[in-house]
Amino acid sequence: MTTKERLKPGDTIGILGGGQLGRMLAQSAASLGLKTHIFCPDPNSPAFDVSASYTVAPYDDIDALNRFANTVSVVTYEFENVPGPTAAHLDERVPVRPGVRALEVSQDRLFEKEFLSGAGVAIAGYAEVNSQEDLENAVEGFGGAGVLKTRRFGYDGKGQLMIRDNETVPGAYEAIGAVPAVLEELVPFECEVSVIVARTLDGTVRSYDVARNHHENHILKSSTVPAGVSPETVETACRMAEQIVAGLEYVGVMGVEMFLVRDETGERLLVNEVAPRVHNSGHWTQDACLTSQFDQHIRAVAGWSLGSSDRHSDVVMENLIGFDVDAWSDVLNDPAAQLHLYGKAETREGRKMGHVNRIGPKSG
Ligand code: AMP
Repeated sequence: MTTKERLKPGDTIGILGGGQLGRMLAQSAASLGLKTHIFCPDPNSPAFDVSASYTVAPYDDIDALNRFANTVSVVTYEFENVPGPTAAHLDERVPVRPGVRALEVSQDRLFEKEFLSGAGVAIAGYAEVNSQEDLENAVEGFGGAGVLKTRRFGYDGKGQLMIRDNETVPGAYEAIGAVPAVLEELVPFECEVSVIVARTLDGTVRSYDVARNHHENHILKSSTVPAGVSPETVETACRMAEQIVAGLEYVGVMGVEMFLVRDETGERLLVNEVAPRVHNSGHWTQDACLTSQFDQHIRAVAGWSLGSSDRHSDVVMENLIGFDVDAWSDVLNDPAAQLHLYGKAETREGRKMGHVNRIGPKSG
């Protein structure tokens, strides 16, 4: 690794996106002696409060991007929908980590599935859908059920339609906007789990323990670790996550979401999707591990070595969504709870306002 690729304390990391993930990345960078420059179009970005500098500009403002690139040693991002041309433009001037390829793969569900099956990890059956006719054929092929998902810009259940019987099929392609899509097999999963994995410039890979995730209204509500799965399943989950980051020559932290299926043969995992960034289901690492996912990401994109991802405590992370946050002072009275608030000026229904990590002695 050249010294150019490796940042020194005092250098600046550019972060695209100024939400809570950008904010917690900036906090970790500061604790490691690095500065951050946040680039975000929203003038009220919560990350601005904790960053040495910031730029308010649209992601296609070339002059603003050039000025930003001139002030930073590396660029990273806190959301996967960074426009391709923005990432490519910056990448000509300064290293973008994780790379542009990780964005291309995670922004398109079809490319993602093709990549994942090529990398040798298990995924649900899928078919490309570009018309109502394609959809009808695919549903028939999957025994009359499936989940129709737009290839691009789907998140938190948006751009998706669950098909459980033939009645939902007519008009379904129209209902998701008649845009390029995929149909996935309907997975009879017991629960959803995730793994946070990190990879350095020199290819060292380290993953965290598996979290069991619970969603409400399509939004993550809590993550529990340990996840209550067998040690073999933890091993398989980590191995799959590691195969994915190795296949992408990825640098930084990635969240890998999986379905856990339990049948007569035991536990089985299918990768659902990957997020090329720190992930909400990894917030538990802040208080249950020596090195949080945010520290780990900053270390990796700075060209530094990784910290330990070992877990020293059991933990339940609970998201404070919308007016849940009004209970913040009760959390302070719980000696086992650590409160994390994002400093958002306005509380809105469904908005992630903060989270709580509740810690207990390590059970296994
Ligand atoms: P996603 O946007 O892919 O994370 O999907 C949102 C939610 O829809 C997931 O958290 C699951 O609860 C459900 N879901 C997505 N894909 C499938 C599938 N193939 N089978 C069953 N449920 C699914």
